[in-house]
Amino acid sequence: MLEQPLDVVTGAVLIGKIVGASRIVIGVEDNKPDAIAALSAMVPSEIAVSVCASRYPQGSERQLVEALTGRTVPTGKLPLHVGVVVQNVATAVACSDAIRYRRPLIDRTITVAGSGIARPANLRVPIGTSVKDVIAACGGLHPRAAKVIAGGPMMGRALGRLDVPIIKSTGGLIVLRADEIRRATYGPCISCGRCLEACPLGLEPNAISIYTEAGRALETEPFGTRECFECGCCAFVCPSQRPLVQFIQTAKAAFSTGSQAGLAVRPGVAS
Ligand code: SF4
Ligand code: SF4
Repeated sequence: MLEQPLDVVTGAVLIGKIVGASRIVIGVEDNKPDAIAALSAMVPSEIAVSVCASRYPQGSERQLVEALTGRTVPTGKLPLHVGVVVQNVATAVACSDAIRYRRPLIDRTITVAGSGIARPANLRVPIGTSVKDVIAACGGLHPRAAKVIAGGPMMGRALGRLDVPIIKSTGGLIVLRADEIRRATYGPCISCGRCLEACPLGLEPNAISIYTEAGRALETEPFGTRECFECGCCAFVCPSQRPLVQFIQTAKAAFSTGSQAGLAVRPGVAS
């Protein structure tokens, strides 16, 4: 948004023409005043730059649609159901590149952050570059680096190895030191209800976890397993430190295979 605001805006205009949009809104959180200024200076009169509250998970399309249009996407439906198409800024730039310059998506701007990396940086890297090479380009790992996460702090996934490629959906890498990694044991659900209050979709992660823990993952659909987009808000607030997202992922995997056999979260341990 800061370095290619014109490409973002051009991409938005082109996407709007393709889908026949009557209105285009670019939503930016209020903790990015420089990006708001850069985009506002570029937008033509038919596009609005709308400032949203900085509140996780504001970037998820459901929350964004509600914040920008006041429309609620029903559970199990896509934004298109309420007449909205959501695209992120990287997609807008990619569309602009493809349509204006016939340039395919061959690189990706990523953030490399965390106390476990020598020189944190924002980089544009060719898709297919190995994570190992990206880390080397940032000066290598700190001696106490212990975990590399692909993605953000709430929804990212730990990598088991570093010889894996950056792909078009890789937004960033976070490298943590050993003393920053929580390896707490988790306890039983105490029915405090905090996860229910935290879930932006009104799902029941407590029930999903209890059923999955009991080997009954296939019975969790009524609690919203399929709708969950794994934002991690429920697990973040759970006083029993239950790995709710892992339980939900286990339940989804059980839906795919038709069985929970071999998929159970390791009893009593969250990592
Ligand atoms: S991860 Fe938890 S809070 Fe987020 S959508 Fe799923 S159930 Fe709700
Ligand atoms: S926050 Fe944790 S302990 Fe509380 S109801 Fe949810 S799963 Fe149970």
